[in-house]
Amino acid sequence: MILRCPVCGKSPVFAALLKTRSLRDWFSPLDGCPRCGYPYEREPGYFLASTWVINYGAGSVLGIVIYITLDLVIHPSIGWLLAAVLTPIVLFNLLFARHSKTLFIAIDHLSDPHEKDPGEDGGNLPKPDAPTRDSGGPGKPTPKPEPELASH
Ligand SMILES: [Zn+2]
Repeated sequence: MILRCPVCGKSPVFAALLKTRSLRDWFSPLDGCPRCGYPYEREPGYFLASTWVINYGAGSVLGIVIYITLDLVIHPSIGWLLAAVLTPIVLFNLLFARHSKTLFIAIDHLSDPHEKDPGEDGGNLPKPDAPTRDSGGPGKPTPKPEPELASH
């Protein structure tokens, strides 16, 4: 949500506001992290899911909340209500587009981290062989020391 690289947490995902000259600059993330080299966009269409699911999902929730609130509080006419609900959704989607993409990058990195140098099996190293310990199953009941009654 802070528009930073999910790996190093320092470099921005998008171009700075002052350098944003077009809608494309606004919606397109940088190629990758200049600090750690984390590629933001894995493949073309990578952000379709983020845009449609996260952004519009959050926008819909926002719209529903506004709708219910307005309808309960002031009972506006349906045209007024639609305008009052849709306008903030459009604005919200414009403003939230970057956040939804950054969020998507972070979620994607958490669920499926792609390293620069994946190992032979995709970076998933097998766990080192832990010494098998006797878990004390039903076949081998661990002898419990009988509590000695105080005989003194
Ligand atoms: Zn980084």
